[in-house]
Amino acid sequence: MRADFDVPVLRSTGASERQAGMIVEPFRIERQKETLDYLLDHGVRVVLVAHISAVDSFVGIHDQLQQILGRTFPILSKLEDISVFLAGGAQLALLENVRQFAGEKENDSGLAMSLAKGCDIYVNNAFAVCHRAHASVAAVTHHLPSYAGLLVAEEVAHLQKALDASVKGKVVVIGGAKASTKVPVIRHFVDRAEHILVGGVVANDILKARGRDVGASLVDDDAAHLLEGLDINDPRLIVPDDFVITDDKILDIGPTSAARFAEIIKTSSMVIWNGPMGMFEDSRYGEATGVVTHAIAQAQLSIIGGGDTIAVVRKAGVGLDKFSFVSTGGGAMLAFLAGEQLPGLEGLGYYDCD
Ligand code: ADP
Ligand code: MG
Repeated sequence: MRADFDVPVLRSTGASERQAGMIVEPFRIERQKETLDYLLDHGVRVVLVAHISAVDSFVGIHDQLQQILGRTFPILSKLEDISVFLAGGAQLALLENVRQFAGEKENDSGLAMSLAKGCDIYVNNAFAVCHRAHASVAAVTHHLPSYAGLLVAEEVAHLQKALDASVKGKVVVIGGAKASTKVPVIRHFVDRAEHILVGGVVANDILKARGRDVGASLVDDDAAHLLEGLDINDPRLIVPDDFVITDDKILDIGPTSAARFAEIIKTSSMVIWNGPMGMFEDSRYGEATGVVTHAIAQAQLSIIGGGDTIAVVRKAGVGLDKFSFVSTGGGAMLAFLAGEQLPGLEGLGYYDCD
C-alpha cells in the first residue's frame, strides 16, 4: 500500500539536521487509517510504502506514526527486508522513506519490481503524490494488479464533483504563491465557475498583467507567460482593490476586498479554495485570510486543500470538519483541478475510457 506520511515535523532542539522531531499536522497520516484498517481487518498483510520530505528517515517519528495509526509495525530499512517480512507471519510493516531508494523519483522499473516482489496487489492511497510519475506511484502499477485506496477514490470523487458541478453558484478562491500551479486552475475554471476570487501573490501577478503598479510586491517571474491566452479582464475573475501594504509591498488584501469576497462566498452553492490571501504567517497580514476562512467554513459546500491552506484553517481555530471536504493534496489537487491527467491515477484505471 502506497501511503502518504509526508507531513511537516518540528525539529526538537538539539536534534541534528534531518533528524526527526514532532509531527505538527497529522491530518495526512490520519487519513490513511481507514484504508489500512480495511485491509488489515480483512486479513490482508500489508507493506506500507511512503515518503517524507521534512526528514530523511521514518525512524525518528516511528512512535508517533504507530500512535496516530493505532497499530504497531517494524520499519524495514532495506528493500530485501520486504521478502523477509513476507516470509514471516507479521501483518504489517513500513518500508523506510521510499525517496531514499535509488530510482524512486526516476520512476525506475527496477525499483518498482523490487517493491512488487512477493506481493499480490498494489493499493495506492497516496493522493498527494499522484501528480508524480515516481516508481512507487506509477511504475509499480505495471508489475501488480493495482487499485485505488479508499482515500484516493474519495479525493477523485470530490474533486471531480468540483469540476462537474453546475457553473451557477460555484466560486473558486485562489491565493498563495506559485503561479505555475495556480494559474492553470484559474484557466480551467474560468468557464466552469461563476466567480474566481484571487488573492495572494497570484493577485499581484494578475494586477501587474493588467498594468497596475504593484511596487516591490512579490510576483512570479513566469506569470506573464503563464497568463498568456487567459482574458485577465474577464469579469468573472475578481481581484482585490484594496491592500495592506508595508515597504511598498502588498502583503495582504484589504478589508473591503475581504468583505466582498466573504459576501460572494456566503451566497455560493459550492466553494473550492486553495491558498491564503496574504502572508498569513505574520499576523499583521493574516486578517483577510481569516475573514475568508470563516466565510468558507459557513458556505453550503466547501472543498479545500493545500499545505498552507490547512495551516491557515488551524491558525484561525476553525475545525477541519467545518468543510465538506479537505483534500490531502496540494500540488496533486491543483493538477487535478487544472484538468491534468495524473500519472498516479493512470495505472488505477481512471482514464481507461479516454
Ligand atoms: P498552499 O500550500 O495552501 O497551496 P501556497 O504554498 O501556494 O499555499 O502559498 C502560501 C504562501 O503564500 C504563504 O507562505 C504566504 O506567506 C504566501 N503569500 C500569500 N500572499 C502573499 C503576499 N501578498 N506576499 C508574499 N507572500 C504571500
Ligand atoms: Mg504551500
